[in-house]
Amino acid sequence: NCETAMFGAKAAGRANYHFFSPEMNAANRDRLELGVALREALADGQLSLAFQPQIDRNSEEIYGVEALARWTHPQLGPVGPDRFIPVAEQIGMIEDIGLWALRTACAQLAHWRAAGRHIPAVSVNISAQQFRNGAFCAQVGETLAAHGLAPSDLTIEITESLMLDQTAAVTANTDALSKMGVNLSMDDFGTGFSSLSLIARLPVKELKIDRAFIDRLESDAGAQAVATAIICMGQSLNMRVVAEGVETDAQRRFLDALGCDAQQGYLYSRPLTAQAMDDWLDANAHSPAGRRRRA
Ligand code: C2E
Ligand code: MG
Ligand code: MG
Ligand code: MG
Repeated sequence: NCETAMFGAKAAGRANYHFFSPEMNAANRDRLELGVALREALADGQLSLAFQPQIDRNSEEIYGVEALARWTHPQLGPVGPDRFIPVAEQIGMIEDIGLWALRTACAQLAHWRAAGRHIPAVSVNISAQQFRNGAFCAQVGETLAAHGLAPSDLTIEITESLMLDQTAAVTANTDALSKMGVNLSMDDFGTGFSSLSLIARLPVKELKIDRAFIDRLESDAGAQAVATAIICMGQSLNMRVVAEGVETDAQRRFLDALGCDAQQGYLYSRPLTAQAMDDWLDANAHSPAGRRRRA
């Protein structure tokens, strides 16, 4: 509470009183406690990627897999990306983690391809900060070449905040990536502040409807309206629309009726280790949820 926060700031010997919200306290604590550990984590191989399948609802085949960062600290146990990604951004480690995720995800897709798996693309989450580095697009190109992948094998998920960042480097990176043929996807769509005209001008190929709207599809007419509008907008702008966080059959049917291109969520699978993904692909080879095309 407020009094404790004031006392804490005073006791710490500061000249002024500081008002910390509980969220700010948690963020500060995380930065201090996790920052040092996170630097070690990357070098020590404590980070890994989980993969979550996305289902093409027209073909009922696999549409792609999203790579999601995981951290298991030897003492703290699992620390979620919602906690450590903001820390990485604050302590200047997000570019290293982003490159690691990009390389690891591409290596895994190449491995699956070599094993004869049909997975059309891998999606990697990239923070806005990484786009401010003029070298990012070249790093993507080098990574794809190193693993013998085509640009269209990779989808880069960005958030709406990136779109408000109209610096030269950001614009150059997004333009160059799309010219190269890498798919750009707008993650958590509907929660940010993008204007419709901005979206229409950007080289974005895919919109991901934020989980919050999918969650409330059955109970909230507003969420239904937003999901419907995003799907219609995607169709008219020639973008693909992916729903994330699909957990129930009712949500699946609602989205199917609206013509949403692909779905991702616990209804199909939780994020899996690469090995568990192999098992999932085998198990779903003949089911309508994730049938695998045979070579
Ligand atoms: P995101 O990119 O929007 O990823 C989707 C999140 O929803 C994931 O959480 C996923 O595990 C979760 N999810 C998927 N299906 C369901 C469902 O049916 N129900 C529920 N309740 N949740 C579902 P996760 O893995 O904890 O990641 C959280 C966020 O952390 C991601 O959100 C992304 O913004 C960020 N993140 C994860 N990995 C990376 C990374 O390598 N780099 C960067 N920059 N950010 C990452
Ligand atoms: Mg994502
Ligand atoms: Mg998302
Ligand atoms: Mg998210």
